[in-house]
Amino acid sequence: MNAATPHTFRTQVAIVGAGPAGLILSHLLADAGIESIVIDQRSREEIESTIRAGILEQGTVDLLTAIDPNTRVHTVGHRHDGIELRFQGEGHRIDFPGLVGRSVWLYPQHEVLKDMLALRLGAGQDLRFGVTATHVEGVDTDRPRVTATTADGEVLEIDADFVVGADGRPAPVVRPAVTGDSRSGYFREYPFAWFGILCEAPASADELIYSNSPNGFALVSQRSPEVQRMYFQCDPTATRMR
Ligand SMILES: Cc1cc2nc3c(=O)[nH]c(=O)nc-3n(C[C@H](O)[C@H](O)[C@H](O)COP(=O)(O)OP(=O)(O)OC[C@H]3O[C@@H](n4cnc5c(N)ncnc54)[C@H](O)[C@@H]3O)c2cc1C
Repeated sequence: MNAATPHTFRTQVAIVGAGPAGLILSHLLADAGIESIVIDQRSREEIESTIRAGILEQGTVDLLTAIDPNTRVHTVGHRHDGIELRFQGEGHRIDFPGLVGRSVWLYPQHEVLKDMLALRLGAGQDLRFGVTATHVEGVDTDRPRVTATTADGEVLEIDADFVVGADGRPAPVVRPAVTGDSRSGYFREYPFAWFGILCEAPASADELIYSNSPNGFALVSQRSPEVQRMYFQCDPTATRMR
């Protein structure tokens, strides 16, 4: 098989992106008896080792628990019952259970992805790594098609009843095909960014600290007992620190 002879597959739902959205959707669809093919341009190793989010809100934890009652969120993750907000150097603790009867969990996104990948592959999900969607056609018909290429240059065509763009940001292929514009929908870009620092160090606080100062916003957050994530506000166009 090579680029000249596309390999065509048929499924009910073609999902582009094996991030949290694509993987959880494939699970929910399978639960409802709907088959899907999930493709991701990254390797499994890359997906499982990229450190991004760290905090899961209660609704997400409830969903992950419904998917797998033995989810490691409850054994490896840490429940946080509050955060600290700092203004002018003074801290104010926000007590989540006391105020709304809910909590958040510190459980890194790549751990969620490890769990979901193992679960989906164990259930026989058609999940292909290193496969990049290059374009989508027929989105306004009942036979949309995703065209993709493998790392070896093989061309795949996936015909589906529905195509789902779970391809995240910043360069989605599916969303612009559906909307005609990658920036359409409910999208708001703020004129500042976060400079993130991942460091090997013990936690300097038990809970997250969100701090406001004349120099902008800063966040002390955690990832694990050994790895911490710090952020401060920066200019999104800045290429170096002054
Ligand atoms: C530093 C950082 C910290 C964050 N902290 C938090 C937090 O604490 N809590 C929180 O809730 N959220 C947090 N977020 C946001 C969270 O990570 C995202 O909301 C989440 O990853 C979105 O999931 P997704 O599945 O929609 O997209 P993604 O996770 O971006 O997954 C998209 C997938 O699509 C694949 N893909 C893209 N294009 C193609 C293509 N053409 N063909 C095939 N595959 C493709 C990508 O390889 C990727 O695996 C953070 C994000 C960052 C960057």
